[in-house]
Amino acid sequence: MTSSARPHLNRRLAEFGTTIFAEMSALAVRTGAINLGQGFPDTDGPEEIREAAVRALRAGHGNQYPPGPGIPELRTAISAHQQRRYGLLFDPDTEVLVTAGATEAIAASLLALLEPGDEVVALEPYYDSYAACIAMAGGKRVPVTLRPHEDSFRLDLDELRAAVTDRTRLLLINTPHNPTGTVLTREELTAIAELAVERDLLVVTDEVYEHLVFGEAEHLPLAGFPGMRERTVTIGSAGKTFSFTGWKVGWVTAAPELVAAVRSAKQFLTYVSSGPFQYAVAEALALPDTYFTAFRDDMLAKRDLLATGLAEAGFKVFRPAGTYFVTTDIRPLGTALSQEGDGFAFCRALPERAGVVAIPNAVFYDHRDAGAPFVRFAFCKRTEVLEEAVKRLKALA
Ligand SMILES: *Cc1c(COP(=O)(O)O)cnc(C)c1O
Repeated sequence: MTSSARPHLNRRLAEFGTTIFAEMSALAVRTGAINLGQGFPDTDGPEEIREAAVRALRAGHGNQYPPGPGIPELRTAISAHQQRRYGLLFDPDTEVLVTAGATEAIAASLLALLEPGDEVVALEPYYDSYAACIAMAGGKRVPVTLRPHEDSFRLDLDELRAAVTDRTRLLLINTPHNPTGTVLTREELTAIAELAVERDLLVVTDEVYEHLVFGEAEHLPLAGFPGMRERTVTIGSAGKTFSFTGWKVGWVTAAPELVAAVRSAKQFLTYVSSGPFQYAVAEALALPDTYFTAFRDDMLAKRDLLATGLAEAGFKVFRPAGTYFVTTDIRPLGTALSQEGDGFAFCRALPERAGVVAIPNAVFYDHRDAGAPFVRFAFCKRTEVLEEAVKRLKALA
């Protein structure tokens, strides 16, 4: 959609069209294609957690405005989760804030922490709300591009250091990274932490896929690195970990002064949200380790099914170390099939040609050319759905 179709939209937001997900999901409905575009599971999370939400609702827990920072039970559960998994201690009263999903946590953090004109260094390609939220806060985004290197996308630490200027206020990090599936290594995170300390930067880190990490890779929270505890805002969410993306329960953990700042913005966005679901998520976070392991193993099997199928269909596959997305390079399909390496054209044609919907990674880039040949597929779908998608994609060639 061009901005002339939206004459009332202000200049800060004019560059942001309708999200690609709306266009591609409409295309999926119109063509009856399998939608591997948007990242939401096609089965709900644990039955006992659904029941916990029903119980809360029936008992009248959370049906009226819950407390502004989130219900104490959930803040305590978030704190206990950070301690149990990572050995990080956060005071549930002053260092934890419940938000309307990670999406609000990102928006509130940027609105609270940025002055107009401040620069934000962010890893490109970025999750689609980052650029818009930086713009709404009056900030200026400075992308550092993750580049394909053998089988994954990697961060160039020299490029990262060079991106920081005297106007840089914060680093916006995402690990495990959507859409590339990159999980930042201990060395990379150490370098990020050293840079943040040296240049006295705040760090906002989106770790919503913390439980979806495969094989050798390990999720290490940035807040655990030297000098980071007091300068890092960590963002988590129940949506991805418990397969309840519609509940919109997210959170922030950070030092008291940072939580207080984020809360100041958050209280005027939604004030509060998801009352009964907060009770259910408190129970979910206390599930035994077997839940988290089984969830990860299930997604790992799905990753392998889709990644192997895509490779057999002729794509170059970047087998993700985390998240539930696979990024592919379409160029090995040949110039005709790959629409000359144009991911947009490829994704617009794919539903008619193969009955599958995917997302062109270029939408997540400022440097659109750098993302042009890459296309993302989600694998958080039932096995039979993925099998059918693979069958259709193999028929492409
Ligand atoms: C899905 C997603 C979010 C949004 O999470 P919600 O809790 O649904 O708001 C934020 N960041 C990344 C990287 C995501 O993939």
